[in-house]
Amino acid sequence: MPVGDDAGLAAGTADAVAATLAGARTVVAVTGAGMSQESGVPTFRDAQTGLWARFDPAELATPEAFRRDPERVFGWYLRRWTLARRAEPHAGYRALAGLADVFDELLVVTQNVDGLHRRAGSPDVVELHGSLEAFRCADAGHPFAADGLEALAGRVPDGPVAPPRCPVCGSPVRPGVVWFGEGLPGAAVERAWAAAESCDAMLVIGTSSLVFPAASVPEIVLRRGRPVIEINPDRTPLTPRARVWWPARAGDALPALAARLHAA
Ligand code: NAD
Repeated sequence: MPVGDDAGLAAGTADAVAATLAGARTVVAVTGAGMSQESGVPTFRDAQTGLWARFDPAELATPEAFRRDPERVFGWYLRRWTLARRAEPHAGYRALAGLADVFDELLVVTQNVDGLHRRAGSPDVVELHGSLEAFRCADAGHPFAADGLEALAGRVPDGPVAPPRCPVCGSPVRPGVVWFGEGLPGAAVERAWAAAESCDAMLVIGTSSLVFPAASVPEIVLRRGRPVIEINPDRTPLTPRARVWWPARAGDALPALAARLHAA
């Protein structure tokens, strides 16, 4: 098991993780784009293919980009929304949802905007970066029914798309995700930060731990001296400080962990 030279970094196995979680009643699972990779939803790095290869996703995911080039940004999000809707939650998603029966509280705090945790049946989910499905108008935030976009997404499978206009105020429609430079939804932040302040342990799954403020949620748990368990095939800035690093894919690790915990 590649545990590296980091002091205190335990070998990542279902047994080691189960031992670390022994006695934990309230658990928070923080997830990122890697959680959805095996469901076929591209991470930002993977998403730079085809027509989009020339564009830095971080530059498409800003309010300035939407003002400058709404067709390009809306087309990119329409494509991501289509991919997310076609995706099915993989076995790791379903296993994580099932862990809600093992603990008194299992809160999922996700940076993902694809809605897969809810579709997999996780009962308690905080979407820190909003949702691809929650379209709204850019000026006043009037909700815009996503089903009105299905026909558009079918007609224009890729490339720039002019955003529809809000039927209430006429401003362009935008995705209900949090762009770089925008604030996180207040209620989501309150819930996630409070849970990190009080949980017994935290799982961090499929995130590069580079995007702030989401990456500061595990820092709270580390500061409290509670265990943080990382599931990620690659090392991240969090890895040296995790109690356990499990270098595995979410779709392999979570079903193994669930089987171990349900058997306990
Ligand atoms: P990231 O793309 O920066 O990092 C993904 C991490 O997942 C990497 O560390 C990678 O090693 C790991 N990973 C890859 N495959 C994995 C697997 N099968 N199992 C476990 N781990 C795996 O993602 P991020 O940290 O979430 O930050 C990117 C930002 O982009 C976030 O703000 C997020 O909202 C957004 N985003 C969301 C989605 C989505 O909703 N599915 C997709 C792309 C980007």
